[in-house]
Amino acid sequence: IHAPASDLDIAHAARIRPIEEIAASAGIPADALELYGRYKAKIDTSRLPPVPGKAPGKVILVSAMSPTPAGEGKSTCTVGLADSLARAGRNVMVALREPSLGPVMGMKGGATGGGYSQVLPMEDINLHFTGDFHAITSANNTLMALVDNSIYQGNPLNIDPRRITFKRVLDVNDRALREVVIGLGGATQGVPRQDGFDITVASEVMAVFCLATDLADLRRRLALMTVGYTYDRKPVTVADLGVEGALTLLLKDAVKPNLVQTIAGTPALVHGGPFANIAHGCNSVIATQTARSIADLVVTEAGFGADLGAEKFMNIKARSADVAPDAVVLVATIRALKMHGGVAKEDLRRPDVGALERGAVNLRRHVANVKKFGITPVVAVNKFATDTDEELAWLLRWCAGEGVSAAVADIWGEGGGGPGGDELAATVLAALDEPRSFRHLYPLELSVEEKVRTIAQEIYGACDVAFSTPALRRLAEIQANGWDDLPVCMAKTQYSFSDDATRLGAPEGFTLHVRDLIPKTGAGFIVALTGAVMTMPGLPREPGALRMDVDDDGGAVGLF
Ligand code: ADP
Repeated sequence: IHAPASDLDIAHAARIRPIEEIAASAGIPADALELYGRYKAKIDTSRLPPVPGKAPGKVILVSAMSPTPAGEGKSTCTVGLADSLARAGRNVMVALREPSLGPVMGMKGGATGGGYSQVLPMEDINLHFTGDFHAITSANNTLMALVDNSIYQGNPLNIDPRRITFKRVLDVNDRALREVVIGLGGATQGVPRQDGFDITVASEVMAVFCLATDLADLRRRLALMTVGYTYDRKPVTVADLGVEGALTLLLKDAVKPNLVQTIAGTPALVHGGPFANIAHGCNSVIATQTARSIADLVVTEAGFGADLGAEKFMNIKARSADVAPDAVVLVATIRALKMHGGVAKEDLRRPDVGALERGAVNLRRHVANVKKFGITPVVAVNKFATDTDEELAWLLRWCAGEGVSAAVADIWGEGGGGPGGDELAATVLAALDEPRSFRHLYPLELSVEEKVRTIAQEIYGACDVAFSTPALRRLAEIQANGWDDLPVCMAKTQYSFSDDATRLGAPEGFTLHVRDLIPKTGAGFIVALTGAVMTMPGLPREPGALRMDVDDDGGAVGLF
């Protein structure tokens, strides 16, 4: 018996075409490409010729039920669905986030899809890719060095070192850096203060990068970022420091979207990568809009469950840019439904329709939530080899009973280039023809407190929200500074609708705990930190890094 091929084995065995060929097939002219080796290119969007009469491509948003350690396969389905739509003769492009090295070296793994539905070259994309995260990290840390230098050089802006809200970042899961003291060592070593690190994908620079519509908007948003407060409690912005030009300079190339390909040869833009639990969770607006300008259909992903990524896509991204989805796909798996129905990970192989039925309450709440945005989702059942026909048939019947269309997709085993995703593609195409009236969940005029409450009650199913004493103080500050009309970016565990990761299924009657609120005035949202969620993750007991190596030819080993 052979061990099943790993994602990396499949990616290595796949035929990869020079990126110029992929660009040409998508109608991207050669002089708009900035090559990063043979298989990756940045696109200079100013060199894309307008296509007269072309309507912007329709947006198909892929999200999911609440994730479990069993793995749901959102990226796999995003890639496989796009390949299947291409197979059906559609002009389609993928828009995905760039992976973070935190999960790559830690527990979750990469973010380039799996099986025969992957974007290539997977090892490059999962490692340093075109350097965007390094540029974002450098811009963020340059800003913080400039803040501390301003304090050291006489503090002309009167910055209170105890009230700096911006942190340094690294794209590493490093719990030891969550709380640090900097500036120790004497009079010439800076001014000592308590500081901390976030992971790059939680930083406001990442959010600004992903929400900016162009270079000018990037500069405008960077200037608006609040780094902290003065001794008399006035916000201090990047514009006050006068360094938005330098930060924009550090990001001017990174902001161009990255073109790669799927195993089946579908063009894909992989650009920007905020996490969906502690940030807003979708790829850059520039990538989505560039893909819409080129293709008729754009398949994009909103991270984790629809309570996080999709809610933020609708209320944050689709508010600051014209990218409201034309269809929403919710990925579900038999395994994850069984886990929500109380089955332990070790027992998932055993057929258990009773557990499916108990776990389906999780999917039901996500379906109902998406409908609140005016769109009826399609359920994509991502087929695993262990699923039985009886279980798959039960789930399709259940979906029909709930009034949602569903299709089983075997896009991991077969690849979207094969027939395994044909039915899903047809179901999504039919959904695009359905009437819909997109709406946001809340108006911006609601106070931040009321917005948090609306999301908690309408999307999570909470009965109430408890704000900690510091959070209540922040709410008053937000009002006083005129930020009450910003949308809210919830930071919450992805595993549960509640702020307690162990409460699976569709918990009810719980209180959501907001422990702090952080205004991100450049991104244009207020982050609400709930429960014990961390903006700098830690590594697990057995990090993925333990399995990794390089072979004699310099190729990656053990990536996933
Ligand atoms: P998500 O985007 O939801 O985090 P991914 O698409 O990244 O999930 O997939 C996570 C892991 O699960 C990958 O290693 C992938 O190969 C694996 N996987 C996804 N779908 C399947 C499937 N149908 N059968 C087996 N493994 C799968």
